[in-house]
Amino acid sequence: MASASFEPTAGAAEAIHVENLHKRFGELHVLKGVSLSARDGEVVAIIGGSGSGKSTLLRCINCLENPTSGLIRVNGEEIRLKPDGRGGAAPADRRQIERIRSRLGMVFQSFNLWSHLTLLENVIEVPVHVLGVKRDEAVRTAEALLLRVGLSEKRDTYPAFLSGGQQQRGAIARALAIQPRVMLFDEPTSALDPELVGEVLRVIADLAREGRTMVLVTHEMKFARGVASHVVFLHNGQIEEQGPPEAVFGNPRSERLKQFIRTVG
Ligand code: ADP
Ligand code: MG
Repeated sequence: MASASFEPTAGAAEAIHVENLHKRFGELHVLKGVSLSARDGEVVAIIGGSGSGKSTLLRCINCLENPTSGLIRVNGEEIRLKPDGRGGAAPADRRQIERIRSRLGMVFQSFNLWSHLTLLENVIEVPVHVLGVKRDEAVRTAEALLLRVGLSEKRDTYPAFLSGGQQQRGAIARALAIQPRVMLFDEPTSALDPELVGEVLRVIADLAREGRTMVLVTHEMKFARGVASHVVFLHNGQIEEQGPPEAVFGNPRSERLKQFIRTVG
C-alpha cells in the first residue's frame, strides 16, 4: 500500500474544523478543549481508551450532541450554537443541522440498517424521501454503491438475513448514498465477529485510497497505521498526542500512548 496515495492535496480546504471543544454531561467533563481538523482528502484516525470521549466528539460534529462550548466548522460552515440556559449551548437552527448532516455520512458501531426495508430500500431511503432524488436515479446510484461494497446480489435481502459484515458494508453504502463530503466512522468493526472484520476494513481502505475525507474512530491499530494521514490519541477528553501514523505508532512520546499501544496494538 503506497502511503503517498493518502496524502491530502497541499493547501486542501478544511472539511472538518474543531476548536477548543468542551462537552459536559452534568458534572462529567467529557471533552476538555479538543481541537482538530481534517482537510479534504485526509483520513484522520482517532484512537484512545474506552470512555476517552471519541464517540462524543464524533456526535458533536454530527450535531447528535450539543457541545458545551467551542467551535465546529463543517466545510467552512460554523455550527451556530446558542446558550441552552444550563451553562451549555444548543445548535440554533434545525435547518442548519439538516444541512450539516447532509454533508456527513455516519457509520456506527452497531449496524443500524432499517430492519423493515431491504438493503436497496435502505440505501435509497434518505436520497428519495429526504433529499428529493428521483427514485430511478437513486436506484441507479444505490446499485453502483452496492456493487462497490460487494453486495449486488443482496439488494433485495432484509438486514436480518445478512451477516454482520454484510450489514456494515450495507451501512457504508447507505452513508455514501447521500454523497457526503466527509465520512465519519465510529468503531465500525468492533461489534463484528473477528472473521468479518477484514471485509469491512477493505471497503474503508478503498474509500481512503479514492481520496475520501474521513474521520475514523478505531481500535484497529494496524489499519489506522495503514490508512490514516493523521492520528489523534484522545485520553480523558484531551488530545494527548497527535501526528502522522509513523510518528504516533512508531515513535510515541507520551507514556500513556506507549501504554495504550502496548495494550491494544
Ligand atoms: P468513547 O467513545 O471514547 O468510549 P464516549 O464518548 O462514548 O467515549 O463517552 C465518554 C464519557 O462520556 C463516558 O464516561 C460516558 O459514560 C459519558 N457519556 C457519553 N454519553 C453520555 C450521555 N449521553 N450522558 C451522560 N454521560 C455520557
Ligand atoms: Mg465510543
